[in-house]
Amino acid sequence: MIFKDNKDISFLCFGSQDWWYHNRGHFDFQLMRRFAKKGTTLYINSLVMQKPKLSEGRKFVEKLVRKTKSIFRGLRESDAGFWVYSPFLLPVHHIAWMRPFNEILLRFQLWFVMRKLDIRDPVVWVACPTACNIAANMKKSKLVYQRADCYEAYPNVDVKMITAYDLKLKAEADLTIFVNMALYRQERDQCKKEIFLNHGVDFDKFASAVQVQEEPLDIASVPKPIVGYFGALDEHKLDVDFIEKIVDVQPEISFVFIGKASPGFSSLSEKKNVWLLGQKDYEQIPQYGKCFNVAMIPWRRNCWTKAANPIKVKEYLALGKPIVSTRVFSEIQNYSDVMYLADTPEEFAECIEKALADDNPGRVAARRKKVQMSTWDSRAHIVLEELFNSSKSSAWRNKVNMVRGRPVIGRMRLFARWSKSVLRSLRAGYLDFALNAILAQTILIWLTIRDVFSSRRVECNICGWTGYDFYPNVGWGFNDKSVTCPGCGCLDRYRSLVIILWTRTKFFSPDTYVIEVAPSRKFQTYCLQQKNNKNYISFDINRFAMEKADIIQMQYRDNIADYFLCFHVLEHIEKDIRALKEIRRVLKPGGQAILQVPADWDAETTCEYSCPNPRNTGHVRRYGRDFAQRISLSGFEVSAVSVSECLSEGEIERFGLSREPVFLATK
Ligand SMILES: [Zn+2]
Repeated sequence: MIFKDNKDISFLCFGSQDWWYHNRGHFDFQLMRRFAKKGTTLYINSLVMQKPKLSEGRKFVEKLVRKTKSIFRGLRESDAGFWVYSPFLLPVHHIAWMRPFNEILLRFQLWFVMRKLDIRDPVVWVACPTACNIAANMKKSKLVYQRADCYEAYPNVDVKMITAYDLKLKAEADLTIFVNMALYRQERDQCKKEIFLNHGVDFDKFASAVQVQEEPLDIASVPKPIVGYFGALDEHKLDVDFIEKIVDVQPEISFVFIGKASPGFSSLSEKKNVWLLGQKDYEQIPQYGKCFNVAMIPWRRNCWTKAANPIKVKEYLALGKPIVSTRVFSEIQNYSDVMYLADTPEEFAECIEKALADDNPGRVAARRKKVQMSTWDSRAHIVLEELFNSSKSSAWRNKVNMVRGRPVIGRMRLFARWSKSVLRSLRAGYLDFALNAILAQTILIWLTIRDVFSSRRVECNICGWTGYDFYPNVGWGFNDKSVTCPGCGCLDRYRSLVIILWTRTKFFSPDTYVIEVAPSRKFQTYCLQQKNNKNYISFDINRFAMEKADIIQMQYRDNIADYFLCFHVLEHIEKDIRALKEIRRVLKPGGQAILQVPADWDAETTCEYSCPNPRNTGHVRRYGRDFAQRISLSGFEVSAVSVSECLSEGEIERFGLSREPVFLATK
């Protein structure tokens, strides 16, 4: 993990789950285990939120037994530095006048446990709103509220009480974390400081599961094809009738459920093509998942599921499995290209058929790519940055040195550029390109009106322009929506580049010597402003730049540059390997080349065109997944960074950033 300082930070988390009994893929578990590498971390197993309900019969007894067992485990160190404790409390949280007793009881136990672990002034993390009062009153360095679910919509809770806690926590927490974009938009005004942070996934654990040959015994005997589900079978999430209908329509398919089943689901186990395999260890889940042919989320529609953001979506995608889901949670819109969505059992069954047919290595790679950058390490990093380092990592927000945005001239420039594109395309006989440009011109007036009258949702981090959305970018072989800033004309990839350069390099420091090839005008101005007009040179062979030079034979001395920026250039260079070697020559030892090319990440290898391809922006090749390897062949050490690892999802959306990786190649 990359943490910038060495300060010891301890965490105290009032959890939403019970560590000993729940799936360890949950948000608070994952983050706390990572924070444990930073300092002692104490996880308090969930405090009771629901009213005890004797009428539940067996379920009630089971819960009681589980809770008692959990309490008797006492204080335990589960991983290095990660401690778990289940406090003893009376099940009376729903009775207002009894609450202070429980609070005293909890405070006493916490005092004792924290003294034992030598935890002082921890970051207090609340993932269970019933801990509100005690968290608000205790001594701490920061208060974090994890608004992961619509807690007040849980069955059997005191809605009024939970709502009051929720509002208080949002108003007082130093940081409120949302995992659902709809909830974030709806409630952000109620918070002191808030971020949207999508779930991460144990990508390597799930993606590598297929490499293990053996299958767990109980699932190995189930006939293929298998449609599977991870997660508890609860009535508030799943509808038995809905599932039964799907199962009955497809008798030749095996339906496997991995998770604890409520008594209401016992009728399912009587079906011949259904296997309820029960709850499994989190460590085993990927091994079961790899046996699925299709993964499913047949959730019912309610307030709780709508605001949810199920981690299993990312786990299924990391496994590379096709997913069929009901159209219930709003986060689903981000995955519509890799999921099948249905409303009725009949549609669901049809989608399963389609999904079964949709299995080839290309699709598997596309699904994995969707979640590859969403690691839990990067989420933990973002939270720590937000809590402790926000002034340091936000140097790029320094508005003093921004370039001047001129939206009126910018829009005229766009119109002129698109006119040129129309003429050029018509002359070459590419009607589709011409049509794209005419369409963009037509909606330009509408976009302008929208910016005047609508709310300002997006912001350019290069010129400071704000508006409803970014503008299109069309031309030879590309047609991108919402990427161009009308203020400075920069594209999404430049806005991302600025953030990566600020947070991961010393590129903009006036003391580092920088060479850029084929600069964009506004970006060059931006660089010169940050660097006080010092130590920056740009060159090109025949376009706009400060000097004239050829990238495969530059006039610069060996070992002079700290950074060499080569952004969307190599795809135009016939001898790209030679260019890379030449870049390496001018870099100082330890200096870095900053590289990006348009690439097709689904393609394993790079494809060379016999001549510049007019239908692909005039490029001489299309790079594939081997791009990093090509760089390292020239003697560099390569790493890739995406803005997803530097900023929260809310900010990525606000600044309209490209998630494409930028490659840092060190000499
Ligand atoms: Zn701009």
